[in-house]
Amino acid sequence: MADFPHSLREFQKRFPDEAACAAYLAAKRWPDGFHCPQCGGVKAWLLPSRNVHTFLCTQCRKETSVTAGTIMHRSHLPLTVWFWAAFLMATHSNGMSALQLQSELGLGSYKTAWLLAMKLRLAMVAPGRSPLNGLVEADETEIRFRTKDDPPAGGQGRSHDGKLLIAGAAEIRAGKRGRPVLGRARLCVIADYRASTLHAFLKSNVISGATAKTDGFASYTGVPHVNHDPHVIGPMAAHIVLPGIHRLFSNLKNWGLGVYHGLRRKHLQAYLDEYVFRFNRRKYRHAAFATLLGIAACHEPAPYYILKAVGLGG
Ligand SMILES: [Zn+2]
Repeated sequence: MADFPHSLREFQKRFPDEAACAAYLAAKRWPDGFHCPQCGGVKAWLLPSRNVHTFLCTQCRKETSVTAGTIMHRSHLPLTVWFWAAFLMATHSNGMSALQLQSELGLGSYKTAWLLAMKLRLAMVAPGRSPLNGLVEADETEIRFRTKDDPPAGGQGRSHDGKLLIAGAAEIRAGKRGRPVLGRARLCVIADYRASTLHAFLKSNVISGATAKTDGFASYTGVPHVNHDPHVIGPMAAHIVLPGIHRLFSNLKNWGLGVYHGLRRKHLQAYLDEYVFRFNRRKYRHAAFATLLGIAACHEPAPYYILKAVGLGG
């Protein structure tokens, strides 16, 4: 059987209850069979009278929940709800807002739906993901942010008030008949357009020896580890020289407006991570569900206070 359901019908058949979800997580967590985190024992009983996803080591008697050490740890939500949420967020072409999740899954409160979505977003950045390579278009853009009270005033002139700065990079690959197509992408919130900021962005997202194609903005010059391919142009023509990254920026802005009615400053990086996660898996969305749960099953727990500490809470 494939590692993931290919349709909603298949999803429903495969994950009808807690036991089915727990078995899937156990297989993800221990692909070579159960492994006791305390003594290394390989035999365990599933405790029938307790939660369906608690294992008892036959050697040292330690109880291990299949969700221990994952973002689902100590969650009061049923596993079926986590699975539904992961499936919806991974497979819908535009993703799901917390409000949509709340209504689709019949969750009691918006806060519950919001935390669920935010914890899944944390699992969307794979630890040790590989940097972009080959030919990479790099550029930066501004996006208006939404506040709780009212839309930001002004927006005139060069001030960054009410705008968030984003650095982006996207691989350009040769498609059919040599036509350029977009590969993987990365997006990052940045504080300013200084050389040190943009260099740091490229350093952590583009592999050494790749070629960075830019609009010739001075801050990109002298990046130590990549070949720089500057195309000095007037401001009107940026989308012609860098069509790939500009299409990505424009789709990102439409998505932010369409799904979230404007993105909020506090959580912007998490939304960018969500966008990139789905974009990079756009050709195999149903596999992304397994990836999301697979990553989620190995991710550190993210209780509310940790979300707070990294600026994602509330
Ligand atoms: Zn043990």
